[in-house]
Amino acid sequence: MLKAERAKYILDTLETLYGQPAIPLAHQDNYTLLIAVLLSAQCTDERVNKITPALFELADNPYDMAKVPVPKIRSIIKPCGLSPKKSSAISELSKILINEHDGEVPESFAALERLPGVGHKTASVVMSQGFGHPAFPVDTHIHRLAQRWGLTKGKNVTQTEVDLKKLFPKERWNALHLQIIYYGREYCSARGCDGTVCPICTTCYPKRKNPVLTKKA
Ligand code: SF4
Repeated sequence: MLKAERAKYILDTLETLYGQPAIPLAHQDNYTLLIAVLLSAQCTDERVNKITPALFELADNPYDMAKVPVPKIRSIIKPCGLSPKKSSAISELSKILINEHDGEVPESFAALERLPGVGHKTASVVMSQGFGHPAFPVDTHIHRLAQRWGLTKGKNVTQTEVDLKKLFPKERWNALHLQIIYYGREYCSARGCDGTVCPICTTCYPKRKNPVLTKKA
């Protein structure tokens, strides 16, 4: 199969399997989404969803969050990991939202990426899931699947994002990014597959015999 044919097959298969997928991180608005995505760095969505009710009970908007002492935030979010950095970022970014954005989450990649603790992937999730702009957030899981499916030879998430955006129609990016995540969770974990099990790999690569070695992001 040519790369474009693989992309089409994968697009159709994932659409059939997952349709319009739910946003996995629990949130009430763009502020709580931003905080949840920030917390999800190197942590599972499941764990973030267990932590955020207590945090948002205390403060679910930048004005209340800015008043919470950083050590208090840190103690609540500790199970998510990286709590010293994440708690400072949550406090700082809340103050920036108040001082520079009238307490609102800004609707631009540049302004989002200037916030502490917010990188390109986090900004992409907020732009996509919060504001509905086309974006393709690529994390290590999407990077791995894109390699196993022969959609990129990218050595890092940046190159993989460029390749995936070229291959798939813009209007499908937001749903597709979630569909790939759901597929990865259900079938295609980080370890233990030689790339010859699922219909996606057996259809795209019927002659594949050797395991696919993926490059880390
Ligand atoms: S065959 Fe393996 S590598 Fe391919 S999609 Fe399935 S789990 Fe992933």
